[in-house]
Amino acid sequence: MAETTPPSEDAIHHLTEQFHGEIVLPGDKNYDEARTVWNGMIDKYPGMVAYCSGTADVINAVDFAREHGLRVAVRAGGHNVAGTAVCDDGIVIDLSEMNGVWVDPDERTAWVQAGATLGDIDHETQAFGLATPLGVVSDTGVAGLTLGGGVGHLRKKYGLSCDNLASVEIVTADGAYRTASEDENEDLFWGIRGGGGTAGIVTGFEFDLHPVGPEVATGFVFYPGDQAVDVLRAFRLTEQSVPDELTTLVSVGTFPEEELFPADVVEESKIAILGLYADSPEEGEGVIEPLRELGEPLADFSGTMRYTEFQQLFDDDYPDGMRYYWNSLYLESLSDDVIDHIIEWAADAPSPLSTVDVWPLGGAIADVGLDESAFPGRGAPYLLGVEANWEDPEQDAANIAWARECLDDMREFSDGSVYPNFPGFYEGNDEMMETTFGDAYDRLAAVKTEYDPTSLFSLNQSVEPTME
Ligand SMILES: Cc1cc2nc3c(=O)[nH]c(=O)nc-3n(C[C@H](O)[C@H](O)[C@H](O)COP(=O)(O)OP(=O)(O)OC[C@H]3O[C@@H](n4cnc5c(N)ncnc54)[C@H](O)[C@@H]3O)c2cc1C
Repeated sequence: MAETTPPSEDAIHHLTEQFHGEIVLPGDKNYDEARTVWNGMIDKYPGMVAYCSGTADVINAVDFAREHGLRVAVRAGGHNVAGTAVCDDGIVIDLSEMNGVWVDPDERTAWVQAGATLGDIDHETQAFGLATPLGVVSDTGVAGLTLGGGVGHLRKKYGLSCDNLASVEIVTADGAYRTASEDENEDLFWGIRGGGGTAGIVTGFEFDLHPVGPEVATGFVFYPGDQAVDVLRAFRLTEQSVPDELTTLVSVGTFPEEELFPADVVEESKIAILGLYADSPEEGEGVIEPLRELGEPLADFSGTMRYTEFQQLFDDDYPDGMRYYWNSLYLESLSDDVIDHIIEWAADAPSPLSTVDVWPLGGAIADVGLDESAFPGRGAPYLLGVEANWEDPEQDAANIAWARECLDDMREFSDGSVYPNFPGFYEGNDEMMETTFGDAYDRLAAVKTEYDPTSLFSLNQSVEPTME
């Protein structure tokens, strides 16, 4: 696309008059707040930040950006680890004020505006004992999460967030408003389910809902690091036999939380095992029991709790403005070798806040056909997440190097494809996208060519339009 050029004062004035939301420019008193995203590593200086109040503002902002050849960043929850929700120069089209959620309890659907957080959605749907699969930290934005797939505590039973989409409303690069579903603009609907926001700005999502909660049985157990090999091998066995109602997550790290552990082990490595049973709590407690017997627990917080509470359990672990670099790989198995490598890399992390995580997949995720959506990772049994989390800017290089080296080392256990919501900084984007999307890459490029031929939306997990 064209190089970004600053629009004239007259043009900005004209846009401001058309706009219902606020337009923030460099020099405005809230400019620094407006250019900030969740990851403290990201420090960008946009030419303007346009807070949209609704779809009309989004259309105006898209038209303005296209007509002036501006670089475009789209921000929903601002939690993309690579910071693609902001850009230097150009325009940030911010959706955070479009955060309404409307539930139809009879139809078991929810209409969700694109700026909603996961917590906004759970709050509304749980009023009716319903939920849709979302991620595990409640202030993450639903838009980025869903467009990239969306793995959370309900994934084995009900699939990915994007698998639960009935339709979307979207503004494409030409400024046109469209709806997309299985029956309308099917190619677009296929592409936005796992292919990211490469074809346009989704303004609203329609989700299917399921009966969940309000109370659910949960597992939350810590084992000491010196039992790591046995615990992870026992976990692998358990995972193979549990029903899809139980979704688990493994995290290997230090978790240096003084209020949770005896002083002598606070700084020691640990294994955290999590599980949520998406059906009756009484039944679930029995199914979760084996997760509590994988070794000698250091601490065990398992029990029945409110679904919304479990959904917020880790919110405090990821404060705004800390420093983060997360990447990922789909694993072909959780072999003994893989387990050994995970334990070694977790022990080598320069920051005690970092973790190496294993997200079991399968279940409802694998029930969806590979060609039914753009989401690429359905065949894999496990997703490896490498989370570098640290506070000191002087430690940036060491932490990023650790996560990259860990990923390089683990690549031998994978086909090399990554989960684009845990993308590093999208370094080597083109190669990463081709490896990750494989056979679906050309189809995604065709969607891009149809709806965004000049690559107006190029800052996220982006594919290139096909050249004529
Ligand atoms: C603390 C934390 C916890 C997380 N937990 C999980 C988890 O449990 N499961 C999981 O799957 N992922 C998880 N993620 C990853 C998360 O899915 C991605 O970071 C996702 O991009 C966040 O979406 P967002 O709307 O907050 O981000 P943003 O940074 O606002 O947007 C992300 C990307 O999507 C594009 N985009 C945003 N909105 C739109 C739109 N409406 N239309 C088109 N494009 C758009 C943007 O251009 C941007 O490139 C987590 C991330 C964080 C930071």
